[in-house]
Amino acid sequence: MTMLTVNNLVAGHGLLTAVRDVSFSVAAGEVLGIIGANGAGKTTLFRTLAGVHPASSGSIVLDGVDVTDLRPSRRVASGIAMVPEGRRLFVDMAVRENLQVAGENGRSGAWTLSTVLEALPALAPLLDVVTGGLSGGQRQAVAIGRALMSNPQVLLLDEVSLGLSPVAIEGLYKQLAGLKGRGDTAMVVVEQDLDRAMTFSDRVICMLEGRIALEGEPQVLGKQAITDAYFGLAHGEMAHA
Ligand code: ATP
Repeated sequence: MTMLTVNNLVAGHGLLTAVRDVSFSVAAGEVLGIIGANGAGKTTLFRTLAGVHPASSGSIVLDGVDVTDLRPSRRVASGIAMVPEGRRLFVDMAVRENLQVAGENGRSGAWTLSTVLEALPALAPLLDVVTGGLSGGQRQAVAIGRALMSNPQVLLLDEVSLGLSPVAIEGLYKQLAGLKGRGDTAMVVVEQDLDRAMTFSDRVICMLEGRIALEGEPQVLGKQAITDAYFGLAHGEMAHA
C-alpha cells in the first residue's frame, strides 16, 4: 500500500532551487534509498518532507492526505518522523525521557516504550542514562527510537551512520532491518555508503542538482549506473573517460 506520495516537489533557499520537480512514492514495508553527492538536495528534500522547510510548489501526500501545508508538529502527529542528520536530542535528559517526550507528541499506535525496546534492545540498559554521555552509535539508536515513539507511517533517516564506527553501523542496520521486516513502516533513507544503500534499499533514487537523475531497483540498475548518476555522468559514460 502506498504510504507516501511526493508530486512535483520544488523547494529552495532564496534564489537557489535545491529540489527540482521531484516525484516518487513509497509503500509500507518498503525502503527507498536517496543517493547523491554533497549539495544534491537530499537534506532539503527531507526537511521539506518533514515540514521544517517550506515547499515552493508540488505536494506531499501521506496515506491519502495532503500534508504539504501542515507545520512540523502536525506532520509528526499525522505520521511522518525524521531522524535528522546530526540527530538533535535532549542531551540533559535520560534516554527514557527523550523517548517519552516523543511518544506524547506523536500518533498512538503499536510503538510504545516496551515495543521500541524490543526493536532496539541496545537501548534497554541505557534508559536511565543521561543522553549526553552516550556514544555516537547509542545516540543514533536513541534518535531512531525517538522517531518510532511517534508511531510514524513514514520514517525519514538522514545519514544515520555518519560518524559511527563500523561496528555501530552494523548494529544500527541490523535494527533497521528488523524494522523493515515488520512491514508496516515506509522508510526513506539517505546513505552515503553506496554498497550499504544498495543492499538495504528496495529502490533507489539518485539525485543530481536537485533532480532525480536515475530511479529503480538497485540490483537492476547496477553499481556502475548508480555511480555514474552520482557523479553526473550520463549512463554509459565511464568515470575515467
Ligand atoms: P549534503 O550531503 O552536503 O547534506 P545534500 O544533498 O543534503 O548535501 P542540501 O543540503 O539539500 O544537499 O543542499 C542543496 C543545495 O542547497 C546546495 O546547493 C546547498 O548549498 C544549498 N543549501 C542548503 N542549505 C542551505 C541554506 N540554509 N541556505 C542556502 N543554501 C542552502
